[in-house]
Amino acid sequence: MLGEDNSAVEVVAQARRDGATPAGIRKKANEVRASLNPHPAKQREMNVPNHTVDDQIAFEKGMQHKYRETVLFFPSEAQYCHSYCTYCFRWAQFVGEADAQFASNQVDALTGYLRENRAVSDILFTGGDPMVLKSKQLGKYLDTIATDPSLDHIQTIRIGSKSLAYWPYKYVTDEDADDMLRLLERVVSSGKHVSLMAHFSHPAELSTPVVREAIRRIRGTGVQIRCQAPLTNHINNDPDTWATMWREQVKLGMVPYYMFVERDTGAKQWFGVPLARALEVYNGAIQQLSGLARTARGPSMSCTPGKVHILGAEEVNGEKVFVLKFLQGRNPRWTDRVFFAEYDETAKWMDDLRPAFGADKFFFEDELAEMERAALCGSGSSGQLFQES
Ligand SMILES: *Cc1c(COP(=O)(O)O)cnc(C)c1O
Ligand code: SF4
Repeated sequence: MLGEDNSAVEVVAQARRDGATPAGIRKKANEVRASLNPHPAKQREMNVPNHTVDDQIAFEKGMQHKYRETVLFFPSEAQYCHSYCTYCFRWAQFVGEADAQFASNQVDALTGYLRENRAVSDILFTGGDPMVLKSKQLGKYLDTIATDPSLDHIQTIRIGSKSLAYWPYKYVTDEDADDMLRLLERVVSSGKHVSLMAHFSHPAELSTPVVREAIRRIRGTGVQIRCQAPLTNHINNDPDTWATMWREQVKLGMVPYYMFVERDTGAKQWFGVPLARALEVYNGAIQQLSGLARTARGPSMSCTPGKVHILGAEEVNGEKVFVLKFLQGRNPRWTDRVFFAEYDETAKWMDDLRPAFGADKFFFEDELAEMERAALCGSGSSGQLFQES
């Protein structure tokens, strides 16, 4: 029913024409949402730390732990965003169903989990957008992590945010601006590395005097700003756009970090870009820049087995293949491994790819299936898996 381009809109429009009540329209909207893969890459089943209590699986609310070194935390006060991008891959956080959200306001649950997982070096605050919070709310988390000696193993605090692009006043003229900068400064001087993972998808977002002032003030606290964005059709599907953006980012003292492939959730039919085109855009941009801007990694897909980097398209023994590499593996031993898929001009996601050279599966598939089975029966919390490997 929802396979065709406009059918999602049509379902809701028809409900309105039929005189549906607000509750009836909401019900239709929820049916549409459920069909749009709200939790891509099995993040709900496989990334949420869990343990078995009295034969019931208990999940840690508001956390995801997919890669050994990094825990994602979703503060419950920050499950909204400055921008509401129509291509958002976290839209399930915003649609008001408690069940569909990852969120927590439990400082103790977070610090408790981190304390028990000594291999974790990075905590990544995400959402939504943690920078919708006031310094006081954010400080509750950051000051605790910065000052608790039992959390010495946490070296890096990352904060994913669209605030620089959409509300740079937060760091310049807002009433809370100076307190926010002082909080960041405090955390940096505690000895932690703080990285603001800024979402910039177009050079226009870097062009205003106020965003430049915000960048200057944040850099003054010792926070490093790293930049990331998805490649989206109709917005930045063009090598020159990325080259200009990355060049400008370096000039402003920021570090280009990720170019993501649009995830297989939401309005992918409009925004999705084939992997072959993504490579063209990435290479076309990188070739225009000096090494300092080539810190951008991509195009990268965050999928169930890990973060898969599309390194190139080459011909090997007469067969055209995609050369792929795990930037991150759900099993740490997969990280940095190179593998090959049949070249496919229309493929937009990992699921569309087939192994190259006549292989019947990718090297990680059996192990992944095993991990999935373990996660579903509650005996495979990420922490346990990482300790074994
Ligand atoms: C990208 C990502 C990270 C961080 O990976 P880095 O290689 O350290 O940037 C951590 N957790 C999840 C779920 C991610 O998608
Ligand atoms: S900034 Fe990120 S979280 Fe916010 S709406 Fe856009 S994609 Fe979603």
